[in-house]
Amino acid sequence: FSAEKYNVKRKNFSNVQAADVSYFQSILGNDRVLTDRDEVLPFNIDWIRNCRGQSQVVLKPKTTQEVSEILAYCNKKRLAVCPQGGNTGLVGGSVPVYDEIVINLMLMDKIITLDEISGALVCEAGCVLENLDNYVRGHNLIMPLDLGAKGSCQIGGNVSTNAGGLRLLRYGNLHGSVLGLEAVKADGTVIDCLRSLKKDNTGYHLKHLFIGSEGTLGIVTKVAIHCPVLPKAATLGFFGIKNFENILELYKSAKSSLGEILSAFEMADNLAITQTVKNLNLPNPISDYPFYALVETHGSNEVHDGEKLSNFLNKEMESGLIMDGTVTSDPAKMQTIWNLRESIAASSLVGGYVFKYDVSIPQKHYYDIVPMLKQRLGDKASAVFGYGHIGDGNIHINISVPQYTKEVVSLIEPFIFEEVSKLKGSISAEHGIGFRKPQFIHYSKEPSALGLMRDLKQLMDPNGILNPYKVLPETN
Ligand code: FAD
Repeated sequence: FSAEKYNVKRKNFSNVQAADVSYFQSILGNDRVLTDRDEVLPFNIDWIRNCRGQSQVVLKPKTTQEVSEILAYCNKKRLAVCPQGGNTGLVGGSVPVYDEIVINLMLMDKIITLDEISGALVCEAGCVLENLDNYVRGHNLIMPLDLGAKGSCQIGGNVSTNAGGLRLLRYGNLHGSVLGLEAVKADGTVIDCLRSLKKDNTGYHLKHLFIGSEGTLGIVTKVAIHCPVLPKAATLGFFGIKNFENILELYKSAKSSLGEILSAFEMADNLAITQTVKNLNLPNPISDYPFYALVETHGSNEVHDGEKLSNFLNKEMESGLIMDGTVTSDPAKMQTIWNLRESIAASSLVGGYVFKYDVSIPQKHYYDIVPMLKQRLGDKASAVFGYGHIGDGNIHINISVPQYTKEVVSLIEPFIFEEVSKLKGSISAEHGIGFRKPQFIHYSKEPSALGLMRDLKQLMDPNGILNPYKVLPETN
């Protein structure tokens, strides 16, 4: 259990009683109140199987009104809750620590409106990202974000974690694309900021409080989001690179050669790719290289864009920055390459135990942390590798060990955060703070900023029932 593993004390919340369950059943009906141990179990365990809570109740509301009634009741009774979307979060924020009631949004999955002129999509928070993308593609639009977990993660979870993903470089982050939202505060008050306008300077921009607050300030129930136009042409290149310096040079060159059509620039080191190929039996379209770069373009003219990327490949093969590579506009071939990149996270779950870190570091020093960790861990780690969104300075570091031990943890933490802080990076680039990182947040947040975060939490959730033990560090 997370509580023992991380030595966290239960806060002074009430325990769920039979009368509470009856109350929830009176609002939701019996089917949408899970109390059976086996049924509740998956909602207690996170995606990387690192955190495990002890909740005995899962609630599945279908409407904002139901969320509001549940929260008003829990707030009055001092019952703690854990908001949950697709449970793909990687920092333990989506599962309870003790017996918090899980409020899972999966049944709030309706698309409300799509404005094809502005590209504004309004939907409920439980819509799965991939379903939304499929829907808007039918209307010549795409979702402004894409990530490996798209088949399970929900738009409400994306908003609550301020998810970044594969094309942030091109389409920006959710603070820009989310036009408005509806959220329910701890006391059940529904905050309606569900506007679909690009411009709306009417006082404080309250939606931003919910973007990235990981379910600690309210439950997001509806989202209005801007969808860019479906690109008429998409092209993908996958390149073998000699060393990390050349990845950086190639990135600079891609920005100037490909300009406005560049939509993703991802990197992976040799081990990230070879392990994924081996563990998941996936094909690698090129042979073995120390580093790999994946470069994608989104544009409006297939011939022109394909030519641009091919010229880029030829030029940089001649210069030696690219050792080998392939460029394709064939959707099936593109999917095979993307699949290799998107499966890296899952491949490290095969065998042993994996520590996952998601940090951002100024690009010049982006990869420094990987050799540093390799040296520090020596043969205690079976694999240390790095990959990620180099365009955003965001590297994911995976450390595989035969099994979880306190000794290995003490070698990695806080070392990794100290080093990231020395390199002027952030200890969480896009996954959030969740349950796993509150004690390290000070490496990236000044005391004055942390103080204001606490003031906001106190104002919006004075009883602290929303996702306790997450984001904010304990005060002693
Ligand atoms: P959950 O995991 O269920 O919850 C995440 C947090 O949000 C929790 O704190 C939870 O309490 C809160 N929450 C969820 N729904 C709500 C709601 N409606 N209201 C209030 N709070 C809520 N992340 C990236 O940023 N970029 C990536 O490229 C990326 N790639 C990934 C690839 C894989 C294979 C996996 C497994 C994960 C990846 N992630 C990535 C992490 C994760 O998918 C994202 O954080 C995602 O946004 C979480 O959405 P979810 O619906 O699964 O939320």
